Amino acid sequence: MKNFNPADNIQDLQYFGEFGGVNPSISDSSTYTFLSAKTMFDTFEGNMEGCYLYSRHSSPSNLYLDKALAAMEGTETANVSASGMGAITPTLLQLCGSGDHIVSSRTIYGGTYAFLKNFTPRLGIKTTFVDITKLDLVEAAITPETKVLYCETVSNPLLEVADIAGLAKIAKKHNLKLVVDNTFSPLSVSPAKLGADIVIHSLTKYINGSSDTVGGVTCASQEFIDSLKNVNSGASMLLGPTMDSLRSASVMKNLRTLHIRMKQHSYNAMYLAERFEKDGLKTVYPGLKSHPSHELYTSMINPEYGFGGMMTLDVGTLAKANELMELMQAKNLGYLAVSLGFYKTLFSAPGTSTSSEIPMEEQIEMGLTDGLIRFSIGLDNDIERTYQMMKKCMMELNVLTSESVLME
Ligand code: PLP
Repeated sequence: MKNFNPADNIQDLQYFGEFGGVNPSISDSSTYTFLSAKTMFDTFEGNMEGCYLYSRHSSPSNLYLDKALAAMEGTETANVSASGMGAITPTLLQLCGSGDHIVSSRTIYGGTYAFLKNFTPRLGIKTTFVDITKLDLVEAAITPETKVLYCETVSNPLLEVADIAGLAKIAKKHNLKLVVDNTFSPLSVSPAKLGADIVIHSLTKYINGSSDTVGGVTCASQEFIDSLKNVNSGASMLLGPTMDSLRSASVMKNLRTLHIRMKQHSYNAMYLAERFEKDGLKTVYPGLKSHPSHELYTSMINPEYGFGGMMTLDVGTLAKANELMELMQAKNLGYLAVSLGFYKTLFSAPGTSTSSEIPMEEQIEMGLTDGLIRFSIGLDNDIERTYQMMKKCMMELNVLTSESVLME
């Protein structure tokens, strides 16, 4: 673990293009020729390494990105997909069938929550949602039918931190697969190194970083990825959420700068979180000492990448949150938009957007308050300038008052 550095692993990948290009050539084909019918047969049977069959199964461009993301997470291999949900849903369907049970964190991305709550019961798969920060509750929810423990390293939108090593211990004891969505914390946390069996990302967010595509990946053992891609029984192969080769080539290029971006996102978010907390705003950021999981997170991170770019501020009411977001957008401080990991700051009120799938009473129970604004802090060059501009918006709307700020 000490010597594992995900960015070095990415740096060390050396790919040559077909004509000696510095970027790998893009495979612009959906199907591939065979010089002999026997090789085609063997490839269908899964016995021919290095032969391509059909791009829903894999393509040279996708395999380059698979390899890079597996290197980043320290898993044997990976499988990229057309979206984060295109990675999450086949992975869970590969692991579970009718009669099986999943124990999941209750604070997860709304789409994943809706899949587990509303969709998988149609297939006979049940899920119990738990407070993932309480390992005793997690263990108590396990039944003889449980196959999977599911969580996000840093949860969306409440930024709760999962104790991956503790969960891995429970998973091992009960012979479950621990599946971790690491979308909020690429490079910062390496879940597979802490004992997770499968690590998932929505590439749409930090890893691609330019909000110009959706994408996903499942990082796991060769055996599991082979099962996902099996032509007869693999959920990825049969459901078909394949990433296009042109896109995987562009995500690959963006991945090369992820370490620089993560450091800046983390630096900027820490800066703003410290300032706004001092100003008296209810601020949630895992890098703050006041965060309930600060020490746990500190013990898990690859420190040079920091605590990530996600932060929440509670400004009291939804009306105030909406007013503030509109004003900040008007002042060019960022965009009122869902998603995260973009070079400009993005903000949204999760209760009415990305977590709207979660019923109101459950939102209240998990502490997802009305006035909560989720920020994905951008790569701003001068973050003090940004802070001053944001503070001005907050004072204009009485979210901050001159007394509270003068008390600094
Ligand atoms: N996981 C997390 C933590 C997310 O925030 C999201 C999307 O917001 C997803 C998964 C789904 O990814 P995608 O939108 O790429 O399908």
